[in-house]
Amino acid sequence: MMNCKEATDLVSQNLDRQLGLGQRIALRLHLLMCHYCRNYAHHLAFLRRAAANLEDHIENQTNLSLSEESKAKIKQSLNN
Ligand SMILES: [Zn+2]
Repeated sequence: MMNCKEATDLVSQNLDRQLGLGQRIALRLHLLMCHYCRNYAHHLAFLRRAAANLEDHIENQTNLSLSEESKAKIKQSLNN
């Protein structure tokens, strides 16, 4: 059985590229046996989804603009 270091490396690599069949089987077996690496895999997948959602959120915010009141306050602050 692969060790936890090898398993977590493969979990990370699996997010960026498709693993070979042997690596996928070995990783799957390790994750079945090791709850630490299983938790790591779940947390990494969660963080990846959260980052993607944040990126989408930021892209959707490009149409934001300041209200006229806010613009006036900023101008007033800059003039003082
Ligand atoms: Zn492990």
